[in-house]
Amino acid sequence: MTAPILVITGPSGVGKGTLIKGLLERVPGLELAVSATTRRPREGEVNGVDYHFLGEEDFERRVAAGEFVEHAEYAANRYGTLTSELKRPAGGIVLEIDVQGARQVRDALPEAKLIFIEPPSFEDLERRLAARASDRPEQIERRLAAARDELAAAGEFDHRIVNDDLQRALQELSKLAATMSPL
Ligand code: ADP
Ligand code: 5GP
Repeated sequence: MTAPILVITGPSGVGKGTLIKGLLERVPGLELAVSATTRRPREGEVNGVDYHFLGEEDFERRVAAGEFVEHAEYAANRYGTLTSELKRPAGGIVLEIDVQGARQVRDALPEAKLIFIEPPSFEDLERRLAARASDRPEQIERRLAAARDELAAAGEFDHRIVNDDLQRALQELSKLAATMSPL
């Protein structure tokens, strides 16, 4: 049986990972799907925990074998959700994916709930990406370029949450998740 699916999307640096961490602490049984990527691990990231880090060839082979429920190219790297991640028995699964992937999940799994996280302003997004200090300047530029298109797509999704104050946004997200029985 497939677990209930919550999709969190929005531009890089908006706070998706931070919000999901808080949500997982609040909702017992909820699990995060571990995405696959061809991006290099950041310092401290662990294979199989933060991502399944794959080489280009391995990623492409899995695409050809139909192993992904969705996949996309983002900021010059590839990312995708393996179907096997959705089959684990769980009280619910959260996907943290980009807008292209969220559209694919919406089409493939209409029962999934899609939430778009918005920054208070574009300048806040720039500040957060810089403050996170995890990406090189050209990666930050690519992410900000992608963000302009992503922000324009916010209205396509079931719900929108502005991540202004973290605790406030987390409360809004938790309330929304609680309405998604049996999450
Ligand atoms: P994403 O997963 O969307 O790329 P992160 O969760 O990594 O974003 O957050 C990006 C940066 O913004 C991090 O340094 C995080 O601590 C910070 N951040 C997250 N939420 C807020 C917020 N509400 N206000 C200010 N900074 C935030
Ligand atoms: P990062 O490199 O910062 O970890 O992730 C960059 C972007 O890729 C983020 O917007 C993140 O949501 C997205 N992403 C992470 N995993 C997946 C995935 O499995 N599929 C898709 N489509 N996007 C993903």
